Amino acid sequence: MSAINWPDLPAAQQPEWPDQTRLAQARATLAVLPPLVFAGECDELTNKLAAAASGNAFVLMGGDCAETFAANTADSIRARLKTVLQMAIVLTYGASLPVVKIGRIAGQYGKPRSSGMETIDGVSLPSYRGDAVNGLDFTEESRIPDPMRLVQMYHASASALNLVRAFTQGGYADLRQVHSWNQDFVHSSAPGQRYELMAGEIDRALAFMEACGTDPEEFRRVDFYASHEALLLDYEKPLTRVDSRTGNLYDVSGHFVWIGERTRDLDGAHIDFASRISNPIGVKIGPSSTPEIILGLLEKLNPERIPGRLMLITRMGAGKIREVLPAIVDVVKESGHPVVWMCDPMHGNTREAATGHKTRIFDDVVDEVRGFFEVHATAGTHPGGIHIELTGDDVTECLGGISGVSEADLPFRYETACDPRLNRVQSLELAFTVADMLRAVK
Ligand code: PEP
Ligand code: MN
Repeated sequence: MSAINWPDLPAAQQPEWPDQTRLAQARATLAVLPPLVFAGECDELTNKLAAAASGNAFVLMGGDCAETFAANTADSIRARLKTVLQMAIVLTYGASLPVVKIGRIAGQYGKPRSSGMETIDGVSLPSYRGDAVNGLDFTEESRIPDPMRLVQMYHASASALNLVRAFTQGGYADLRQVHSWNQDFVHSSAPGQRYELMAGEIDRALAFMEACGTDPEEFRRVDFYASHEALLLDYEKPLTRVDSRTGNLYDVSGHFVWIGERTRDLDGAHIDFASRISNPIGVKIGPSSTPEIILGLLEKLNPERIPGRLMLITRMGAGKIREVLPAIVDVVKESGHPVVWMCDPMHGNTREAATGHKTRIFDDVVDEVRGFFEVHATAGTHPGGIHIELTGDDVTECLGGISGVSEADLPFRYETACDPRLNRVQSLELAFTVADMLRAVK
């Protein structure tokens, strides 16, 4: 059992668990379960992220807004993994830069909400806070927070991560498989066709290398890391352990965790938690953040200035990034703090469609990434990566892209439990567009 003394600080966005005895049971159960990741793997990721901080690698972070227990199936996990692998290969090949691959997977089960209650047709119920807390069904019973869901989240994460490890280490991610990731609906799309041409070039390069007598081990597997928002402290704290090698604390629920826009209060429990663990960490930075807030975060979260330790994930919105980001980049640059600059072009671009669906427009997503590259080019800093909400399926949740999802299409396959995600074709199109941007700054 962990005997860590956490200070008692205000924690935003925590569920009101109705049954404290059950909560204590859930926490005690989590505290003795095996780690999902090892400290050494987290350190390895920190080192890779250090390369992204200095412009020698690019980070691709992607996955569901909200994972659900129902979608924690082999097919769904494989499809999401395929999307990230395809995007990563487009970026690697297009920009000749190592790509650090991180999933929003195996732990992305808790959601912050802007409103505590949800009202439909005059009925108000507590908001859905992710499968880790309550159920999506709009019934009184389903919306009651149940702490045993935290234990279920652990087991769901363990099985997802097991499959991810098997896929990425066991041959599925072998570079000779680049074509096989491009089957089904994506194959006939314009980005799918462009991908097929690139995969053919990769095949020829591999055949050439093999003919020359070289067949590197690196081509056979992929390093893939798991990340999620460290939102539910009743989950993260029991899963924080002392590393026997160093005596340092690691949150063993995932390789990388981030603190969200709604919980990044400098004096709150989430930032305090993040400051104590040795995993690589991120903080979401919205348009209301100021240079002073950012400096406070840097000093608190990375006082030793370890390269790769801290990622700032900006999510300003396409209309604001060019206005708000420059002052923040300048102050960080002046401070000398090493950070990985990430662009989340999703969360500042959410809007309501005429159909009532929460959506995002593909061109806004691209425009925010473009603004991000422009600001960093002007400042002489490195655009370190992108953070994307995506799925492996042919969903109709975000508008636009070559595949042309229209407002009328939204109801067909609107399957997200929370925010709208890019489908696989839109994700691939975005990867080609970002690879062009990367090539231009290299
Ligand atoms: C998210 O990443 O799903 C999220 C809620 O983001 P943010 O904290 O940036 O709003
Ligand atoms: Mn989201």
